[in-house]
Amino acid sequence: MIDLLILGGGIAGLSAAWAARERGLDALVLEARGSAGGILDSFSIDGFRFDNGVHLSFATEPEVRAVFDRTPHVEHEALCLCWDNGLWLRHPVQNNLYPLPVEEKVALIDGLVGQPEGEVRTYRDWLIQQYGGPMAARWPLVYTEKYWTLPAEKLGIDWIGQRMRRADLPEVLRGAMSERVPSTYYISRMRYPRRGGYRAFIEPMIEAATIRTGARVAAVDPRARQVRIDGGEVVGYRRLVSTLPLPSLVAMMDDVPDGIRADAESLFATRVDLISVALRRARVSPSLWFYIYDRDVLAARVYSPSWKSADNAPPGCSSLQWEIYSSCRRPIEATIAEMTENCLAAMERMGLAARDDVIFTHHKYLPFGNVVFDLGMEARRDRVRGWVEAQGIGLAGRFGEWAYLWSNQSFMSGRSAVERLVPVAA
Ligand SMILES: Cc1cc2nc3c(=O)[nH]c(=O)nc-3n(C[C@H](O)[C@H](O)[C@H](O)COP(=O)(O)OP(=O)(O)OC[C@H]3O[C@@H](n4cnc5c(N)ncnc54)[C@H](O)[C@@H]3O)c2cc1C
Repeated sequence: MIDLLILGGGIAGLSAAWAARERGLDALVLEARGSAGGILDSFSIDGFRFDNGVHLSFATEPEVRAVFDRTPHVEHEALCLCWDNGLWLRHPVQNNLYPLPVEEKVALIDGLVGQPEGEVRTYRDWLIQQYGGPMAARWPLVYTEKYWTLPAEKLGIDWIGQRMRRADLPEVLRGAMSERVPSTYYISRMRYPRRGGYRAFIEPMIEAATIRTGARVAAVDPRARQVRIDGGEVVGYRRLVSTLPLPSLVAMMDDVPDGIRADAESLFATRVDLISVALRRARVSPSLWFYIYDRDVLAARVYSPSWKSADNAPPGCSSLQWEIYSSCRRPIEATIAEMTENCLAAMERMGLAARDDVIFTHHKYLPFGNVVFDLGMEARRDRVRGWVEAQGIGLAGRFGEWAYLWSNQSFMSGRSAVERLVPVAA
């Protein structure tokens, strides 16, 4: 019987295995896919390497840095742009209004000065109170629908934290009058492996862990302390950590109370269609990554893998990856060919590159992107988490905890799950 069985070989599962090793425990990771790494697994095609979405590290935790810093890396300044109907604006847009016509600036700032006060219940209330109606309507309310797939009045506010720059009148005025304003992005420096894609940061943990790939978990029985893998094999355990998506885990369990099952079924995440584009020209992107506000462009965000590291493209070439978000609440209607065409047309409209510059395009689908904080989600999620943990199962990771975790936080989450199950003094 295994001391610690870990479901899922993404960064959370790998850091749980790393922590188990530090405690002298015998740990086994079960991973459905053919390789470990989860969302952080990079992929290569014809000399071009891509990650699964933008992926840069801003980890500060010593435990994470002790692993990530083993890999030689480059540091980037966190400068990004926004494409808004024919204009490139610096991010965050409210602090960089300079390129806009005077009358527009006046209307947007007037709205900010006269912003309403009152109860903030939804993300829409929050946006309007932060930025004023005109600014909220022009940028974040549009972006919310593209990225979260729901209108802002259907989202809560607990997830916001430091993720959104609050509006500050002197900052906004300065950025409206001058092009030269300091960056106010909430993270100043970002790290990325010199070679091997983002996956290289977690390679030491992959090498150290005992992982069974191609092992898709089909059923979990906490009373018998057994997990069944697709194909029928049963694995017994003393302790269990799951990083599988919380609703999927509950669906694999028997004797779940009706209320818990209903709560679990109500949780949903965005899905991501990634359109990767390999180009025979160097440096086509205007910034490391950029946001897109136009409604008719399907992608919400684009990054350049070759800007993150020159090792991600052959010499003289570059690359882009476009992120298109959908969910069960707003399924994508376009085909892969239509999504690709939409990205290429936008690329040309933005003046980045021409069709003739394209070497190949590639599509990849991520079934889980961001957990969606629709109104009341946290209460439902907490009931589900409470019930699962009461069955003796430790929960970890972005989808195991069902929280908005960056890779460093997912790492810490895997570690904490082991610390809770096996305190050091024990
Ligand atoms: C588009 C995008 C951009 C991001 N950008 C950044 C960034 O710039 N910086 C940053 O720090 N973080 C970023 N993140 C967040 C980061 O990717 C996550 O925090 C982290 O990868 C989550 O790791 P995890 O181990 O919790 O989950 P996952 O990586 O999803 O791992 C879960 C694993 O479980 C496996 N699994 C699922 N079902 C089963 C089953 N039935 N049986 C066995 N195995 C199963 C999966 O195959 C997967 O390998 C981004 C995320 C996305 C989606």
